[in-house]
Amino acid sequence: MDQRADFPILKTKINGHPMVYFDNAATAQKPQAVIKAVSTYYRQSNANVHRSLNPLAAVATELFEKSRDTVAEFIGAEREEIIFTKGTTESINLVAKSWGEKFLQAGDIVILSLAEHHSNIVPWLQLKETKGIVIKYIPLNPDGSWDMSAAKKLLAAPRVRLLAVSQASNVLGIINPVKELIKQAKARNIVTLIDAAQSIAHLQIDVKDLGCDFLAFSGHKLGGPTGIGVLYGRRQLLEIMPPFLGGGDMVSRVTLENFSVKELPYKFEAGTPPIAEAIGLGAACDYLNSIGFKTISEHENRLYAYMLKKLKMLSFTKLLGTAPHQLPIFAFTIDGIHPHD
Ligand code: PMP
Repeated sequence: MDQRADFPILKTKINGHPMVYFDNAATAQKPQAVIKAVSTYYRQSNANVHRSLNPLAAVATELFEKSRDTVAEFIGAEREEIIFTKGTTESINLVAKSWGEKFLQAGDIVILSLAEHHSNIVPWLQLKETKGIVIKYIPLNPDGSWDMSAAKKLLAAPRVRLLAVSQASNVLGIINPVKELIKQAKARNIVTLIDAAQSIAHLQIDVKDLGCDFLAFSGHKLGGPTGIGVLYGRRQLLEIMPPFLGGGDMVSRVTLENFSVKELPYKFEAGTPPIAEAIGLGAACDYLNSIGFKTISEHENRLYAYMLKKLKMLSFTKLLGTAPHQLPIFAFTIDGIHPHD
């Protein structure tokens, strides 16, 4: 399998050498299919969606909504459950600011893990400040994996309302046993939010099979554009949540005194959305599907084993997070050298 030719940027030379790009956990490069979808939209059908009546707008709306269908199918959701956001960070903030503000009370417990990204800590710390919620963290074993017996004890405590954890850590790449905890949380009516920012490009995700209430990811980590992300929310929950942002396109009726909101998913999509970016995200999902997750993971496993073998041969490096079930993400230190150097 050689997909290098699909990525125009890889033809760029760095210091005169062919490019090798290892920073995919931060953002992935874009395949030609995504670049083409975005540029074709700007060249042929740029217009605003859902509001303008010109012929271009009909095409733009159709492409934008088709991308929602593609994303819904990509993760096994219904189209009304796919909310386009700016990225994982905004998706998690949407849950905290809408669901959290309305349904959490002082003293309610939110469970995170010690290996969360800032975007899945700060919104909850903000709710701690404004509402007095309590945050508890699942501790880690020395190999970086979750301490599952501690996690289960935390979940069994009274007043736990939310479990918000990543399916895979951006630092250690360990794939966490989220399904097991979701099952326990569900049995206790605890709402679950999965940060899939890292896992989305590597694992075939089916939200109904996982059983989570919310799932967040960013388009740019799976080869789509920046500025677009997704919040999946279970329909029954989204329906009882207040809108996050107010503005155009999320209202069905406005007077000088009050307003009523549109149906899902538009209730949560105020203002002109990232149209080209959503279309690009749909193209990224199609691109990954055209290769297939089975092929992707076989290839990644080969690269992972090769990298691990070579790293272990370098006696001056120390690998962090050694639990099995890893995404191909490596964190290591080099004796005596600061990471920035
Ligand atoms: N969660 C995880 C696990 C991540 O790796 C990242 C990005 N590094 C984020 C959340 C935040 O994603 P974004 O910056 O695209 O909103």
